[in-house]
Amino acid sequence: MFAAKIKSKLQYLRAIKKASKPQDLSRRRVKYLAVASPSHDSLAKLKEELEEQEELGNPQNHSKSEVQSWHHKLDIKYKTVKLKTNKRILSMVEAKQQLKKLGLTSKYLNFVRKKYHLFSRFDEGTLLDPESWYSVTPEPIAEYIAKKYKNQSVLDAFCGSGGNSIQFARYSDHVTCIDIDPIKLQNLKHNARIYGVLHKLEPVQTNFLKFKAPASKKFDLVCLAPPWGGTEYDRNAFDLRKGITPNFDAIMKKSLEFGCKAVWILPRSTMQNQFVEILKENLPSTALGKKNYTIEFENLYINDRFLEVAIWVTWKA
Ligand code: ADP
Repeated sequence: MFAAKIKSKLQYLRAIKKASKPQDLSRRRVKYLAVASPSHDSLAKLKEELEEQEELGNPQNHSKSEVQSWHHKLDIKYKTVKLKTNKRILSMVEAKQQLKKLGLTSKYLNFVRKKYHLFSRFDEGTLLDPESWYSVTPEPIAEYIAKKYKNQSVLDAFCGSGGNSIQFARYSDHVTCIDIDPIKLQNLKHNARIYGVLHKLEPVQTNFLKFKAPASKKFDLVCLAPPWGGTEYDRNAFDLRKGITPNFDAIMKKSLEFGCKAVWILPRSTMQNQFVEILKENLPSTALGKKNYTIEFENLYINDRFLEVAIWVTWKA
C-alpha cells in the first residue's frame, strides 16, 4: 500500500511538472486523490506538499533571479591570483618631476610612481590622457587575463587607452576595441604601435550599448572594464548599480548578446553577490535558452596588493 502510494505520488508530482495550465493541474490532482484515497493524515500532509509545489511553480510568487535559477544552473567559484612584477617604482622625487612635466596634480602621484606597472614600455612614448592614468588596467593583470584564452577573437567593450586591448592583441588573433571617447582611441592606436600590435586591432568609436556587430563577426570573448568612478569609488562595498556608468544592468544584458564568454574587470570591493543577482536577472527568461553557467571570481593581486577583481562568465549549452 505504502509503495503504491509513493509510486502514485511520484507520478502525480511528475504530472504537476508537466502541467502547463492551472486547469490541467487541478484535474490531475482530483484524479490522483480519487485513485490514491489516502488516510486523513496523509491527505493533509500531501495537501501541504502540493500547495508548496504549486507555489514553487508560480513565477509570480518569486523574484526574477529565483525564477532564473530554475532555468539555468549556476556554478560559482572563487580564486586568488597573486601576480608579481619586478618593474621599478619611481622615487617620490622622480615622480614629482614627472607630474610637473605631464601637467598633472598630486592626485596622480601614486599612479605616476607606478607607471611601469601600467605599461612596461612607458619610456618608448606611451600616451595617457589624465583619466587613463587611473583607469588603465595594470599590465600584469591585463597580460594574465589575455593569456587565459589565447588565439581568440576578442571584443574589448571599454578599451580606453589600450591596457587590455594591447595585451589581448599580443596573445589573440583579432581585437575589436570600443570606446566612446575619440581621444582614448587615438592613444590606443599610438600605444598599440609601440607594442607592434596595431595591425590586430579594429578601433570603433561608439557607445558600447549601441554597438551592433556585423552578422559575419563572431567573438569568443567580451572584456568589460566599465567606468567605476575614477579614484573616488567605494572601497568597502562597491554597489554596481550605483557606481558603474552607463547602467550596469544594461551593460550586463548587452554582454550576453554576443553569445560568448565574458570577463569583467571591476573594483576589488565589488559586492560579489550583487553581481550574481544581476547576472541571473538578465539571463534569457525562458527554459529554452537553458545553459550551465560558471561564474569565477578572481581576486587579483600585484606584489601582494589586492587591486582588482576579474569575473569570468562562461557557459555550456
Ligand atoms: P574608471 O572609472 O575605471 O577610471 P573610465 O572612466 O576611464 O574608467 O572609463 C573606461 C573607459 O570607458 C573610458 O575610456 C571611457 O571613455 C569609456 N566609456 C565610458 N562610457 C562608455 C560607453 N558607453 N561606451 C563605450 N565606452 C565608454
